[in-house]
Amino acid sequence: MAERIGFFGLGIMGKPMSQHLLNAGYSLTVLDVVKPAMDELVALGAQAAAAPKAVAAQSDVVITMLPDSPQVEEVVLGKYGLLEGLHAGMLVIDMSTIMPSVARRVTAAIRAKGGDALDAPVSGGEVGAKNAALTIMVGGSQAAFDRAKPIFEKMGKNITLVGEAGAGQITKAANQIIVGVTIAAVSEALLLAAKAGADPAKVREALMGGFAASRILELHGNRMVQRTFAPGFKIKLHRKDLNIILNTARELGVSLPMSANVAELMNGLIANGCGDLDHSAFVTILEKLANFEIKSNV
Ligand code: NAD
Repeated sequence: MAERIGFFGLGIMGKPMSQHLLNAGYSLTVLDVVKPAMDELVALGAQAAAAPKAVAAQSDVVITMLPDSPQVEEVVLGKYGLLEGLHAGMLVIDMSTIMPSVARRVTAAIRAKGGDALDAPVSGGEVGAKNAALTIMVGGSQAAFDRAKPIFEKMGKNITLVGEAGAGQITKAANQIIVGVTIAAVSEALLLAAKAGADPAKVREALMGGFAASRILELHGNRMVQRTFAPGFKIKLHRKDLNIILNTARELGVSLPMSANVAELMNGLIANGCGDLDHSAFVTILEKLANFEIKSNV
């Protein structure tokens, strides 16, 4: 019998991801604090639930795609939370980006009640979610991973069990260091080139053929030149990920100066009302400091 799936969080990522599961024929129960987000899924055939506990009763596998650690803790461990409705054999898969230590704590609580859990954060953004092409980094048991694999394959392509509970979130933290620091590097490069009088679109095109080529130069470099900053991945969510990274680094006694600088500049962006813009709008804080905005003639 096909697994009955519960899905929490129908935002930029959760909406297309849950739609893929519906299209694949899974029976789906959804819950979001924003009602119109639920109505859209219900119109496509999902059932709506009023509380996490009720979703647990109707589901074999529950997926969460929520903003941050506090929301995952609330939905799983809170009053009328998943844990209250947990039945033996239930699998909870958190695909949000949260603190690795919280992922381990949530998994322990679920296992103590006879269920199992995976932390399975994703990379690939809204485009990856819409195209069912997400990279999925997983922490947890091999048995839970094998059970979840057919479900993951409806949403993603590069799916890896990295290690035990928390290993998926650690991998995602590593991913977000590379993405954040690279966005900062691309921003500095295009700003310098533009201020020197070179056309940033041409500079980007030239660099895409060499050692500095990257997906971030390709996609976010283009966003910077075209000034298309609608999200995508919001600055406030990337700042949240940098909090996760820097808190985890503190727990481990590791110094991450590049990530810290990016986080500080993102604080400045949020203070300037840019938290809901795409993280490629990082370039705008450097532009403010330089009192110069990059422009293309192409
Ligand atoms: P989003 O803000 O668009 O969506 C989050 C959804 O969760 C919203 O619809 C919100 O109403 C809902 N929600 C909040 N609290 C809730 C609760 N207690 N119960 C039920 N629903 C609740 O965020 P997003 O961009 O979809 O990101 C979701 C997660 O995926 C985040 O952890 C983010 O860091 C991660 N992520 C996002 C991207 C991206 O490109 N957007 C890429 C990779 C990973």
